[in-house]
Amino acid sequence: MIASEPQPATKPWILGLTGGIGSGKSAAAQCFVDLGIHLVDADNAARWVVEPGRPALAQIAEHFGAGVLQTDGTLNRAALRELIFKDPQQRAWLEGLLHPLIREEIKQYLARAQSPYAILVSPLLLETSQHQMVQRVLVIDVPEAVQIERTVLRDKTNEAQVRAILKAQASREERLSRADDVIVNDSDPAWLKSEVERLHHVYLTLRGGQ
Ligand code: ADP
Repeated sequence: MIASEPQPATKPWILGLTGGIGSGKSAAAQCFVDLGIHLVDADNAARWVVEPGRPALAQIAEHFGAGVLQTDGTLNRAALRELIFKDPQQRAWLEGLLHPLIREEIKQYLARAQSPYAILVSPLLLETSQHQMVQRVLVIDVPEAVQIERTVLRDKTNEAQVRAILKAQASREERLSRADDVIVNDSDPAWLKSEVERLHHVYLTLRGGQ
């Protein structure tokens, strides 16, 4: 007999967790992990696909030259960013290579879930085709002033830089209009945890996220 891992009774449905920079996505995600929910972060998947030994890294080095590699063979992100920053064609080439790989990486990781539902955390869930991978969308929402204050504190950056990032992301209104559920994370971490627990109990009753 072929040994196989135990499978949940039904395939877990996928919750997309998103929000603007500094809204509290990672903090909310950790609360779900503490409840035993399987989770993948799209930012991590994007890093995994260009690790040394993965085909994408070799393709990037071939396309852009060895200058995009560090001496230890890992990707030099700053150098790559510099190359595509002012060149939309090169950016499109890179995205064309990486986006399908990132989606596949996320899919494979989510397929291992043993929890009743699983989560894809992504800052660009609604801005990319990643939203097609989820059955339900949870938005972490905070007023812009709180978003800026928390990000400045976390990243030791300044308000102007955070505002520039905010401009490149979906607007608060756009995000909220596409949410199935919203957590307003403008209070303390204990409130965030209680809101996650409240939704978790609802999610456990759902089939296919509906
Ligand atoms: P994101 O992943 O959306 O960028 P984070 O989860 O990293 O945001 O949260 C941004 C910062 O705000 C972090 O330093 C985090 O610890 C802090 N934070 C998140 N939620 C709260 C909260 N309810 N109260 C106080 N600080 C918070």
